[in-house]
Amino acid sequence: MRKKALNKMQVKLPAISANESVCRAIVASFTAQLNPNIEEIADIKCAVSEAVTNAVVHAYRCQGGDLYINVTLYEGREIRIEIRDCGCGIPDVALARQPLYTTDTDGERSGMGFSVMETFCDRVTVSSRVGRGTRVTMTKKLV
Ligand code: ATP
Ligand code: MG
Repeated sequence: MRKKALNKMQVKLPAISANESVCRAIVASFTAQLNPNIEEIADIKCAVSEAVTNAVVHAYRCQGGDLYINVTLYEGREIRIEIRDCGCGIPDVALARQPLYTTDTDGERSGMGFSVMETFCDRVTVSSRVGRGTRVTMTKKLV
């Protein structure tokens, strides 16, 4: 049986680095209505940050573009966070998700973003098409 959605939020923002903290804050404040504990709030912020940073730096290569964030709260204290871009896309998602894999060449990135998302959420799915964009969906069940 499908879970019943209790509330949902849709936000569209420019994919610029100033909005990394904005996205973290708006997702955390929206999910606050489920009374997450401090650790859960930190987990959500961290996972959102990684996904949004990827959209800013990889999908749009710091040139900006549209970033869509959908958050749905379900009964049973489940949260679904979807972060979508219309950027360059990922040619091999399984490879991109490997710990330490990065396409960064200037040594600034460690290739741990997807691993962080996986650590802090219960489930992470990534769908991507080269030249079309990427959708990262993270679900987390609160205690
Ligand atoms: P870190 O997150 O540790 O700073 P990273 O961003 O390279 O480093 P991941 O977040 O795990 O590591 O991403 C792995 C790789 O997947 C990236 O290097 C990039 O090639 C690709 N990638 C991730 N997200 C996107 C995206 N939204 N659009 C295009 N490519 C992406
Ligand atoms: Mg990353």
